[in-house]
Amino acid sequence: MNKLLQGDLSSLEKIFQLVSAQGLDYLKNINGRPTSTVMKTAATAAMPDKGIGTIDTLQKFNDRWESAMVAASGPRYWGFVTGGTTPAAVAGDWLTTIYDQNTQIIKGDGDISAAIELETVGLLRELLALPGDFTGGFVTGATMSNFTCLAVARQWLGKQSGVDIAREGIAQKMHVLTATPHSSSVKSLAMLGMGSSNIRPVKTLPDNREAIDTHDLEEQIRQLNGAPFILISSAGTVNTVDFDNFSAIAALRDKYRFWWHIDAAFGGFAILSDAHQHLLKDWEQADSITVDCHKWLNVPYENAVFFVKDRYRMLQVATFQNSNAPYLGDPLEQFNYLNLLPENSRRLKALPVWFTLHAYGREGYRHIVENSIRQATDFGAFIESRPELRLLAPVRLNTVCFSLSGSESDPQKVTAFLSALNKTGKVFMTQTHYKEQAGIRAAFVNFRTSEKDVELVKALMLRLLPEYSA
Ligand SMILES: *Cc1c(COP(=O)(O)O)cnc(C)c1O
Repeated sequence: MNKLLQGDLSSLEKIFQLVSAQGLDYLKNINGRPTSTVMKTAATAAMPDKGIGTIDTLQKFNDRWESAMVAASGPRYWGFVTGGTTPAAVAGDWLTTIYDQNTQIIKGDGDISAAIELETVGLLRELLALPGDFTGGFVTGATMSNFTCLAVARQWLGKQSGVDIAREGIAQKMHVLTATPHSSSVKSLAMLGMGSSNIRPVKTLPDNREAIDTHDLEEQIRQLNGAPFILISSAGTVNTVDFDNFSAIAALRDKYRFWWHIDAAFGGFAILSDAHQHLLKDWEQADSITVDCHKWLNVPYENAVFFVKDRYRMLQVATFQNSNAPYLGDPLEQFNYLNLLPENSRRLKALPVWFTLHAYGREGYRHIVENSIRQATDFGAFIESRPELRLLAPVRLNTVCFSLSGSESDPQKVTAFLSALNKTGKVFMTQTHYKEQAGIRAAFVNFRTSEKDVELVKALMLRLLPEYSA
């Protein structure tokens, strides 16, 4: 064994102590750590001939990069939809790395970690009040979950005309209907060879909505003359967290032939709020559902699940089977994750989820979700109360989409204000476009965020507004 490796193995205790102390320091001081940074040194390093061992490498990392680590999992990082990391999830994630299982097979002779994955999928299904006939698995994010679900949908679409797309490729027109898809669904269609320009846009409801107008949907279905299609629907759009009407879509399913996918990356957690769970009524009738864990579940990146109805298992295996490796067994006889999703070798991503669900339970998560919703509502009320600011849509769940009054068509003004706000390092939000208006989004999904954080940001905004408002 290389001497440096040997040395590291014998100083493992010291290495763990150093990393643990550093992690503790980061997490204890996360409230004060800046939410943004600027690149100061060029990201170039020569590949060393001789290494320096872990302890000196840690020092090197600290000298070069540590101060640039922003408080992305802190309480005022409201950009995109950025979750935090609960203590239990961090513990589970560490152990995932340490145990380093390759999670694939349930009844193999070796590793049984896929049993933990299946158990965790079951816990999530219960948390989300989904029925038992969904097969689930872990992937790196909602993008890959959408990809996985839409890949099975593609196979289903081919089967409707007797084509096995996984084997034969795509020779037919793929019809995809959707109103306000997340960019990652469009990207998935591109990656899957279905062609993002094959999307037929469905109208949204009037009155500042992003949800599907189901009358227009039915009209467009009729125009397809019985041709099967894929419907991509939303449980929580990113700008205004609008939900499609799943009961109406379920009723259309009784009349027409289509694959129904729901992107519920973060909106699925609305099920935990008594006041909002009606938004998900009948969603369990979908064929496939995407849920992110590194958002509202507050586990570290990269973590999401897909749910696909069990009755499509053959189609799913046809799509993903790794059949050219005979030592891996018959894909239909053995439950093996490598025949059900894109990756082959994979880490035990379920473990941080298993930890956090056991550690905090349904009650803990209900609390997180209700807090986030309350904070968004409160922040939305603040925006409404200020003449210099304007809500671009009502606050429907956990995200506030707003602009500077009078600057809605002037993205540069909005950028200037947002940059000044983000540069304070006290808060981070992201810019957006919503119905031809320049806007800003603040998304609340972090378990650490408190009323005090919201008050702090309001005060900051009030200080900056005189200089930046129209
Ligand atoms: C975040 C998000 C995605 C993409 O998720 P990643 O985890 O970034 O891959 C897809 N859909 C919705 C609705 C999202 O909010």
